[in-house]
Amino acid sequence: MKSFEKNLFKADPYIAGEQPAIDSIKLNANENPYPPSPAVQEVFKNFNSEILKKYPPIDGLELREAIAENFELKAENVFLGNGSDDVLGSSFRAFFNGDKPILFADITYSFYPVWCNLLNIPYENPKVDENFELNADDYKKPNGGIVIANPNAPTSICKPLEFIEYIIKANPESVVIVDEAYIDFGGVSAVSLIPKYENLLVVQTSSKSRSLAGMRVGYALGSKILIDTLFGVKDCYNSYPMDSVALKVMLASVKDKEYFNNTVAKICKTRDNTKEQLRKLGFKVMDSKTNFLFATHPDYSAKEIFEYLKTKKIYVRYFSKPRIDNYLRITVGTDNEMQAMLDALKLFFAK
Ligand code: PMP
Repeated sequence: MKSFEKNLFKADPYIAGEQPAIDSIKLNANENPYPPSPAVQEVFKNFNSEILKKYPPIDGLELREAIAENFELKAENVFLGNGSDDVLGSSFRAFFNGDKPILFADITYSFYPVWCNLLNIPYENPKVDENFELNADDYKKPNGGIVIANPNAPTSICKPLEFIEYIIKANPESVVIVDEAYIDFGGVSAVSLIPKYENLLVVQTSSKSRSLAGMRVGYALGSKILIDTLFGVKDCYNSYPMDSVALKVMLASVKDKEYFNNTVAKICKTRDNTKEQLRKLGFKVMDSKTNFLFATHPDYSAKEIFEYLKTKKIYVRYFSKPRIDNYLRITVGTDNEMQAMLDALKLFFAK
């Protein structure tokens, strides 16, 4: 090792799904198979690059007002970031500064332990049960903060609002983050609880339900004190995380409610049909309130199925991790993409 190397950071990063070749069926990153709202295309058509010579508006006020209106909140209750990963990373920095461990489930979004390790935040992982269900009483012990992904990833299970409120109510001394990356696909958001609980932060994204994964727009909703604290952290790193293009694109998407509702409904319908078809092929499939399905087969290993689908240029997600290493996470694509996957599975089982 060269002498300067001892001071270099040794990262233990999050590993995202593969980016396969363009002619494959990509069902491994929970992206939306449909394009963003046509209003987004209009933004690009009419875009004048002249505006790029100036910095973007520092507070993203117009977009924050539009998002706030959707939830009957005020702009002061909305924070914007470069995708919800950016918002969550800033939130861990902003809210988890105590000595006690923060709590999140043993099976959940695998970026949470990465931020804890990066920021030296102690953490504990209450175990979900054998059906991957969270137990609310596991979150009633002393802690430095709580993070619940609802619906959870990669299990796709969504807990009702009363369950989330029970945990928030039991933890007035901690900030409770509810990561709602997939809430638009059938769950009930905890946003309605924000006026009641100043310690609640709800994080959402445009990456899934709005088909804007490539644009990187996420946001947090919460009390003024939490949002002000987040802006404080942001201004210690990067005063302008939201570029001028992203602000305009997201504003156009937020205003087109009809396209949003239609697209989400289409995905939910394809999801529920695919779930039934997978069950007919012998899979055990969790009831999903997300844009993906979490499935296991009693007779074939998940890894084997994953490798086989890859040979057919169909990419799903496989996690080589304790408790879930015999499951596949399958993003809901178009009806045609799902049919191609089901046909490939039938061929595999017929062998
Ligand atoms: N939370 C969860 C539970 C997720 O699965 C993802 C997607 N990987 C994110 C947050 C981050 O999404 P994005 O940064 O694209 O908003």
